[in-house]
Amino acid sequence: MTIKSFLYELALDIMGKGYRNQYRELRDVVSSGQISEFIKSKLTKLLLHAYNNTKYYREVLSELGTVEGKVNLENFNKIPILKKDIIRKRFSELLSRDYKTRKWYYQISGGSTGEPVKLVQDHYYSGWVKATLRYYYRSMLGIDEIASKKVILWGSMRDIIKASDLKSRIEFWLTNTKFLNSFRMTPEDILRYIRVINSFKPVLVRGYAGALYEVCRIAEKKGIRLHSPKAVVSESEVLTEEMRELVETAFNTKVYNYYGSREVSAIAGECDEGNMHIFAFNNYLEVIKPDGRPAKEGEEGYVILTPLHNYSMPLIRYEIKDVAVVGPDRCKCGNPLPTLKQILGRSSYYFVKKDGTLVHGLYFIRQLRVRDWVKAFQVIQEDYELIRIKVVVDGEIDKRDVNEIEERIRSVMGRSCEIEWEFVDEIELPVSGKYLHSRSLIYDQMAS
Ligand SMILES: [Zn+2]
Repeated sequence: MTIKSFLYELALDIMGKGYRNQYRELRDVVSSGQISEFIKSKLTKLLLHAYNNTKYYREVLSELGTVEGKVNLENFNKIPILKKDIIRKRFSELLSRDYKTRKWYYQISGGSTGEPVKLVQDHYYSGWVKATLRYYYRSMLGIDEIASKKVILWGSMRDIIKASDLKSRIEFWLTNTKFLNSFRMTPEDILRYIRVINSFKPVLVRGYAGALYEVCRIAEKKGIRLHSPKAVVSESEVLTEEMRELVETAFNTKVYNYYGSREVSAIAGECDEGNMHIFAFNNYLEVIKPDGRPAKEGEEGYVILTPLHNYSMPLIRYEIKDVAVVGPDRCKCGNPLPTLKQILGRSSYYFVKKDGTLVHGLYFIRQLRVRDWVKAFQVIQEDYELIRIKVVVDGEIDKRDVNEIEERIRSVMGRSCEIEWEFVDEIELPVSGKYLHSRSLIYDQMAS
């Protein structure tokens, strides 16, 4: 710990945003090996609170046989999945009666896959998120995340506005952070970011997968060698194998995938063995098949989350709309937390055929990714048999490539699928700043 990081934590404590108690509790649970007992006791407490304090869960849990002071966790998987539209429609019924007596704030999800959703969260819960991050960096990556020099390539509109105010500037100084806006990056911006990384020499580089990829791509193209940090952590977007390979080569270090979201934070983080350890002390995570059955090791399913520490607006079995593959229960790295093998990302990455078949968005991304003349792209399924491909062209369009791409898309989407090319100057980003290489409007409709 440095003087600056000591001051930072002191300031958090003074503002009531500290996380020392949570961190202590977390460490005790992990070292005692009593993780599943901990989850059970927290779930019981949360369900009782929700039953006693929210109209929505009073109704739902009564139907499942909950009576005053008694919760039956055996019925937990019968609790209906909490979808975003339920939160929107029944917002006030999900709010805890006592939320005003708590320290709370509004949280708004990124909304890159549909309408944003508004939530109410406790500062106590946000302390758990900070404690979890601290645990991940310290125990799994061996990095003191607060004291270490770091570069963050980040940027939704909201974060950028926040980043320019005095409080954030002080926070960045105390935590040795250089914040680089990746919301919109011109080639000149990227070159400047490369200079910042090389002169600042961070221990850690964190950022959106897409932003890390772009910085590395330009560095490689220009033949600039990048400073090699101890670790690169890719967040928020899907990190494809091609992206990982390029980023690891350019930074000459390992890339760790971190899984979080704005609405439910600190979900899982990758270890040296390549598994994503679930931060089970923070969120109870289920992976379920479309029929509601839990997915087994190696199987994929939808991610369902129950944040264990948020009481002002309890979310029980919240559908985050991501798809994940279940990993081994015991990982070779020795960490006791359960794992996911892979996050397949936002489920709107799937394209939908009329007969209900889902085709993963990565299939389309792979067709475009490797073409020299494609500088940036986005594949959008506008209708069952209409796909629009937006491309920012670098040099000359290769007609043979175009035919090959169309051929490959039709081979999965059907012969009668129409493909429209649109050559543009820029790919617009959604407000959250996340760059989605593929998107299906049909799936978005289906899922909302
Ligand atoms: Zn591991």
